[in-house]
Amino acid sequence: MGTKVCKFGGTSLADAAQVRKVEAIVRADPDRRYVVPSAPGKRDANDRKITDLLYLCHNAAAQGIAFDDVWTLICDRFEALVTDLDLTVDLGPQLSQVRRDIEAGAPPDYAASRGEFLTGHVIAGLLGYEFVDAAEVIRFDRHGRFDDDATQSAMQRLADTNHAVVPGFYGSMPDGRIKTFSRGGSDITGSIVARGVGADVYENWTDVCGLLMADPRIIDRPRTIDVLSYGELRELTYMGATVLHDEAIFPVQQAGIPVNIRNTNRPDHDGTMIVPETSPIAHSGTITGIAGRKDFTVIALEKAMMNTQIGFARRVLSVLEAHGISFEHMPSGIDTLSVVVEDAQLNDRLDTVVAEIRHECQP
Ligand code: ASP
Repeated sequence: MGTKVCKFGGTSLADAAQVRKVEAIVRADPDRRYVVPSAPGKRDANDRKITDLLYLCHNAAAQGIAFDDVWTLICDRFEALVTDLDLTVDLGPQLSQVRRDIEAGAPPDYAASRGEFLTGHVIAGLLGYEFVDAAEVIRFDRHGRFDDDATQSAMQRLADTNHAVVPGFYGSMPDGRIKTFSRGGSDITGSIVARGVGADVYENWTDVCGLLMADPRIIDRPRTIDVLSYGELRELTYMGATVLHDEAIFPVQQAGIPVNIRNTNRPDHDGTMIVPETSPIAHSGTITGIAGRKDFTVIALEKAMMNTQIGFARRVLSVLEAHGISFEHMPSGIDTLSVVVEDAQLNDRLDTVVAEIRHECQP
């Protein structure tokens, strides 16, 4: 028997109709034995994510403001899920407990994590899989940093089960407190679980058919990237492609487990495969994809015979270093050199930096 870990994002769990698609996907392949759900996301553009509503409840409670209206929205969504899916799961006591905890001053991470926690119960009930609390298997140290060793040992708990649902997004610290990853962190949970159970593939189910070769807001109907390497994904993610949380690649990369980005609304589509650098990749062209980010400054320098000068680039970079500024790219020509710096790094110091470069390098 093979092993697939399937992570489903918020839009795949937004309502009962979406969850039915999730059920059909999981049931279609007996290897899909571990499921990592996010919390229900937006049903349409004007809707709210459960996680956002939970943060709102926490903020209100922290300021001593009643949050009945928001709480009702949360309860209504979970209750509608249970009813529309004909489940016997009773979330009532758990919902009441979460509310009491938030009112009693539970921290924001605890509040936010309850979306995944409750969804995990719904999905486990629907599939007949065991519910394994992420607090048991995803571990953080006492400073709130992800604890790889403790998590690896805790993963034995999953290896002992054949089928399990593990809620995404959170884990626990040694004192039992709940700690979340950054937003969108269920992708990371899925990747850690995939490594923990030695999965053959980590399926990340979302609402697009994988990674596109370009931004569809700019380019009309770009093609899907069929296969790319972990490294290429890192480059594209860094430059703005946002399909997968940017930390999610590391656990699977360590274990050489491929990631398959799939669309819950188009399960017939193969999506995108992200594979180790060593795998043979049959590229459909010489460019894998194009991504871009805004808000950078280019400091363009020109000096005759720059290519023969020793230490020119070092002097330019030492000015940046003295200001604690990192750079992104440094393209150069025979008489030219440019440094590409994020505006946020420059933080209004452009004039000073340019004056110092002028002094150091006489460009
Ligand atoms: N529900 C969390 C968020 O909205 C985590 C996730 O969806 O991955 O950020």
